[in-house]
Amino acid sequence: MDDFKISPIRNGTAIDHIAVGQAINVLKILNVNEDTICSAISIGMHVKSKKNGGWKDIIKIEDRELDRRTMDKIALIAPDATISIIRDYAVAEKHKAVVADHICGIVKCSNPNCITNRGEPIKPEFDVISRDPLILRCSYCDRKLNEITENLI
Ligand code: ZN
Repeated sequence: MDDFKISPIRNGTAIDHIAVGQAINVLKILNVNEDTICSAISIGMHVKSKKNGGWKDIIKIEDRELDRRTMDKIALIAPDATISIIRDYAVAEKHKAVVADHICGIVKCSNPNCITNRGEPIKPEFDVISRDPLILRCSYCDRKLNEITENLI
């Protein structure tokens, strides 16, 4: 399987070096389902990584460039990912996934009594207290959160 290839795309986004098994969750972040899909998506799961000899997942999306918020979400579940914007078969922009020290507005608190879950106009905010594994702490109620995927907004 060393020569596994996903065909190049003309315009769109390539998300490489996704932690193996996380492609499905990245698709959820991309909000891809039969109702919203409007361009071709190629998915490679459990692909040999040339970088470190391990395994990875890859996703290529045609005719869609990801915004910053979507990239920030992907970083939370695939911190080693590289996100390349492709224009006319060339890499126009390359972004390394970055998990900020402070996360605002993309994950909700798992505490139902937290003020951020009570209909107040308050955006959930977290501090990153561990990166491997990723653990967040709510800035309002101090609840620790490590089930990131389930709580993405
Ligand atoms: Zn909270």
